[in-house]
Amino acid sequence: MSLKVKIVIVGGGASGALAALQLAQWIAPTEILVVEPRAQIGRGIAYSTQNPAHLLNVRAGNISVFPDKPDDFVSWLQEKTDFPADPSAFAPRRLWGEYLTERFEETGIRHCHASVRQITVDDKTVCLTLKYLSKSEALQDAHDSRGALPFPGRRQSLRHPVELKGTKDATPFYGAQGNAPEQDNPGDFEKHPVSDDQTLITGKVILATGHFLPVDVPQISETVRRDGRYIRNIWDQWPGLPETHAPVVLIGTGLTAVDALLRLRSDGYQGTVIMISRHGLLSSSHGPAESVRESVIPPETPPSALAYLKAFRQALASGQSWRAGVDSLRGVSNHLWARLPSQEKQRFRRHLLHLWNTSRHRMAPQVAHSVTEDLARGRLIVRKGNVYAIEDSENSLSVKVRVREGTDSIQAALVMNCSGPDTNYKRVQSPVLNSLFKTGLAKPDESGVALATDAKGALINASGNVSNLLYAIGPLRAGSLFETTAIPEIRQQAGDFASLLSEE
Ligand SMILES: Cc1cc2nc3c(=O)[nH]c(=O)nc-3n(C[C@H](O)[C@H](O)[C@H](O)COP(=O)(O)OP(=O)(O)OC[C@H]3O[C@@H](n4cnc5c(N)ncnc54)[C@H](O)[C@@H]3O)c2cc1C
Repeated sequence: MSLKVKIVIVGGGASGALAALQLAQWIAPTEILVVEPRAQIGRGIAYSTQNPAHLLNVRAGNISVFPDKPDDFVSWLQEKTDFPADPSAFAPRRLWGEYLTERFEETGIRHCHASVRQITVDDKTVCLTLKYLSKSEALQDAHDSRGALPFPGRRQSLRHPVELKGTKDATPFYGAQGNAPEQDNPGDFEKHPVSDDQTLITGKVILATGHFLPVDVPQISETVRRDGRYIRNIWDQWPGLPETHAPVVLIGTGLTAVDALLRLRSDGYQGTVIMISRHGLLSSSHGPAESVRESVIPPETPPSALAYLKAFRQALASGQSWRAGVDSLRGVSNHLWARLPSQEKQRFRRHLLHLWNTSRHRMAPQVAHSVTEDLARGRLIVRKGNVYAIEDSENSLSVKVRVREGTDSIQAALVMNCSGPDTNYKRVQSPVLNSLFKTGLAKPDESGVALATDAKGALINASGNVSNLLYAIGPLRAGSLFETTAIPEIRQQAGDFASLLSEE
């Protein structure tokens, strides 16, 4: 089977969904296709959670999917939920995921229920090889390289299958109208045997494959890996909580570790949680809403990490609150970053990045409150160190940590890796990225992080040429951009693509 459409978006998490929404304002929905193995578009890793304690870290009034309709999410909350329609509130991520899915479905853009395995190009077209996943393969994928289970559950609102020549038993394309009979549910892998790899021909591709699993702990005993007491993919289903109150160790102290802590508590785990990271710093909390000011780092500041720090400190000395100071940099941080010579970028990463991360990626106040309570009750301990091994010891795990004074060992019932997504794409398990690297259609950014892209998000190939067929959005641009993973930045990139691609 081969199908021609104008634009294919590979990956239907938040980035793919936002790109689709913006493109739909310029290009006919029948000309766009999103390829995504999960049941719903717009969820990905961050918005698949159903846990009501997992909150957005952005206020409801700042996270509309439409830049020109800033109150769209708040209006949706009012119309569709019991959650207060308050622009300054921090809503559950689950609700934002539902909102994005709904807005995507309203566009009429089709969702192809598969995974892209390979991409090749000729002069003017791109050819994608798709794989429809069997349930076990989908599970395998989830464990190997992706976030939460990508295999589809039963869709609530099944759609018309779009007729495609050559599709025998699988009917993976769904338009936006009508109800399909139950046997067309693409989630029913038992009823629909998996078809062979199939191909799509398209004019342009936007890669939106998102986040990968964290880097593994260097030494883990095989028994521990097999028996599920070490969890590398915290978005996956957990094998069960420890029956004893022996500590759970979370590797990482950022917002992912906080997500894991909240999930442990809502699942009923009452024991001690130990979070460990290199700097041992928890994220700060949001304060009351403040109006956004002009950048506290003026444009004429010399491009060095120290000069940026001095300008920031000067603003604090003149009475600026640190939160407003950090927020004032949001619109200019990519520009400030791009100005830094690579040595200064390294300096910033070494000395300042951890401080930036904990001040910029703040917890919603309710989340910060639970974390502070846990700390006060001694149920949460935050430590500094580098976990390098997990060994099986009598009835528990022995977590080996490098600390300033040497090494330490912590006894734990369970260890979860919350150290953040791996951004070295040469190392991650992704057939589609491997295929792009192998054929030289893509290369890592010079920093070794994510993909090399130009200022518009076009891929730069191994010979240094800028593609006019392949583009990337969101986390895939983390090599060249300082801020590229939060919704406001992804929304901006999606808008830029829409105007760029609609002109062609
Ligand atoms: C836990 C968490 C909480 C966050 N909270 C906030 C917040 O409150 N506010 C905010 O602004 N930002 C937040 N973020 C950041 C932000 O929203 C994410 O970075 C964003 O979700 C990125 O979405 P994505 O679609 O690029 O990636 P992902 O969510 O990783 O989605 C990628 C999608 O691509 C699909 N895919 C992968 N490979 C293929 C393939 N080969 N073929 C087809 N499909 C494929 C996957 O199945 C997946 O659905 C959060 C991030 C995380 C992880």
